[in-house]
Amino acid sequence: SKKAVLGPLVGAVDQGTSSTRFLVFNSKTAELLSHHQVEIKQEFPREGWVEQDPKEILHSVYECIEKTCEKLGQLNIDISNIKAIGVSNQRETTVVWDKLTGEPLYNAVVWLDLRTQSTVENLSKRIPGNNNFVKSKTGLPLSTYFSAVKLRWLLDNVRKVQKAVEEKRALFGTIDSWLIWSLTGGANGGVHCTDVTNASRTMLFNIHSLEWDKELCEFFGIPMEILPNVRSSSEIYGLMKAGALEGVPISGCLGDQSAALVGQMCFQDGQAKNTYGTGCFLLCNTGHKCVFSDHGLLTTVAYKLGRDKPVYYALEGSVAIAGAVIRWLRDNLGIIQSSEEIEKLAKEVGTSYGCYFVPAFSGLYAPYWEPSARGIICGLTQFTNKCHIAFAALEAVCFQTREILDAMNRDCGIPLSHLQVDGGMTSNKILMQLQADILYIPVVKPSMPETTALGAAMAAGAAEGVGVWSLEPEDLSAVTMERFEPQINAEESEIRYSTWKKAVMKSMGWVT
Ligand code: ADP
Repeated sequence: SKKAVLGPLVGAVDQGTSSTRFLVFNSKTAELLSHHQVEIKQEFPREGWVEQDPKEILHSVYECIEKTCEKLGQLNIDISNIKAIGVSNQRETTVVWDKLTGEPLYNAVVWLDLRTQSTVENLSKRIPGNNNFVKSKTGLPLSTYFSAVKLRWLLDNVRKVQKAVEEKRALFGTIDSWLIWSLTGGANGGVHCTDVTNASRTMLFNIHSLEWDKELCEFFGIPMEILPNVRSSSEIYGLMKAGALEGVPISGCLGDQSAALVGQMCFQDGQAKNTYGTGCFLLCNTGHKCVFSDHGLLTTVAYKLGRDKPVYYALEGSVAIAGAVIRWLRDNLGIIQSSEEIEKLAKEVGTSYGCYFVPAFSGLYAPYWEPSARGIICGLTQFTNKCHIAFAALEAVCFQTREILDAMNRDCGIPLSHLQVDGGMTSNKILMQLQADILYIPVVKPSMPETTALGAAMAAGAAEGVGVWSLEPEDLSAVTMERFEPQINAEESEIRYSTWKKAVMKSMGWVT
C-alpha cells in the first residue's frame, strides 16, 4: 500500500500515575501516528500509602514501545524514521535502586502518598518562622507531596536502602531518572540524570541557581552522591540500549505538567494550561521571573529547552485528586465499570441535586495545603442516587479548578480570558461544559488530547544534534481546537461555588 511522505518522527514516553503510553508524532504537523497504552497498578498497602512497582513501570514502557512499533509496521511506516525520544513522567514519585544490579530497593513511593506526615511535622518545627529557606529556595511548601521527605522516609525505614547508601551502591531518582538510567543501559552504563523541571519537584533543588542545594540536602539529611545529574529539558542524554528503538537518542525530559505546558505552546508570559489526569494541575508561564504566590500556589521550573537556553518559571496550582475520584468510584464503590461511564450517569440527572463531594483523600493541596482534610460527600437526601454522586464528583473537579484559577488571577493581576485544557478527563464533554459554566470563561481543548506526550516529543525533536522540531506554531498544523462556552448565568455559578466552599470547610480537620 502507498503511504504519504512523512517528515522525521519523534517518539514520547508518557509515564503517568494511572498509565504508561508511548506515542509517535510526525514532527512536521504534530500528527499522532500511533500509540500504545498500558494501565499501571497502584498499591495501597496501608491507609494513606500509595506505591507502584518500578519494574512494572519500566516493563510497561518497553511494552508500549514494542507495541507502538508493531502498529507502525502495520501502517507501513518505517520505524527508522523515529529520530528521537522524549520522556515525560509523573513528578515527585521517588525511587531508590542499586546501581550494580539495577534492582529497585523499595517500591516507588507515589506523589500522593501520605506516610511522611509525621516526617513533615518534625521537619517543619526546624524551619524558622521568619526565614522559610525551604520555600524561598525551592518555591514549594513543606508537604508530603515532594520527593525529599519520601527519600528521608526510605533512608529512615528501609534497611536495604540504608545498606546500599553505606556501600555506595544507591541511586535516587524520580521516575524520569529511573527510566532514562534503565533505558540507556542500566547497570551497564546507564546515564543517571534528571531535568530541571523534575529536579524542581524534589525539594532539594535551588530553583534560582538551578543546582542541588547543599543546605537543603543537609536539612533533609540526603547524601548528595545519590542524586542524579541535572540537565536541561532538551538535550541528548543517551541512546536507547535495547528493543526496537535501540540506538535512538533520548533527548527530551520534562515532568508531565511542564510537558503539557510546552505541548500547549504556552511559551509566553501569562499563558496557562490546566491538565486533568489523576490530579489536576494549572500552570501559568511567568517567563524568566520566579513569582512567589500569596495564595497557596507553587513556584516551579517550567522548562529550559536546551543547555544554553534560558530557564522559564511557572506558578502552579496543584489539586491532588481529580481523575482519581473517578477511578475510586470505579474501583472502590463499583458504581461504574469504566471511567468513561461516569459521563452517562451524570448525564442522566444533569445536576448533583444539592450533593457536594469533596475528594480530599490526600488532604487538600492548593490553595489550602491542609493535610488534615479528608473526603466528604454531603447534602445527601432520600432522593440522592449514584447519578447525583457521579455528577458531584465531576463538579468537584471543576470547583477545585475554580479555586486555583481564582488564586492564579489574584497572583497574576490579569485574569485569564480562557482556559486551555488537556489530559485524560477532557474527553468527558459534560465535565468540559461544567468547567466553562463554573469558571464563567470559555474552555479550549485541543483535538489531540495527548499534549503531555507532544510536549516531550517537541523537546526531544528540538534538541541540539537532533534538530527535527522547530517549536513554531506551523509545526502543530494537525491540532485543531474545540471551545466550550459558559451556558449558565454567572449568578447561578456563584451560588454553586459558594456552597462548594462551605463543603470544603467541613472536610477540614478530620485527622489531627
Ligand atoms: P495520568 O496522567 O495522571 O495518569 P490521565 O491523563 O491518563 O492521567 O487521565 C486518567 C484519569 O482520568 C484517570 O484517573 C481516569 O479515572 C480519568 N478519566 C479517564 N477518562 C475519563 C472520563 N471520560 N471521564 C472522567 N474521568 C476520566
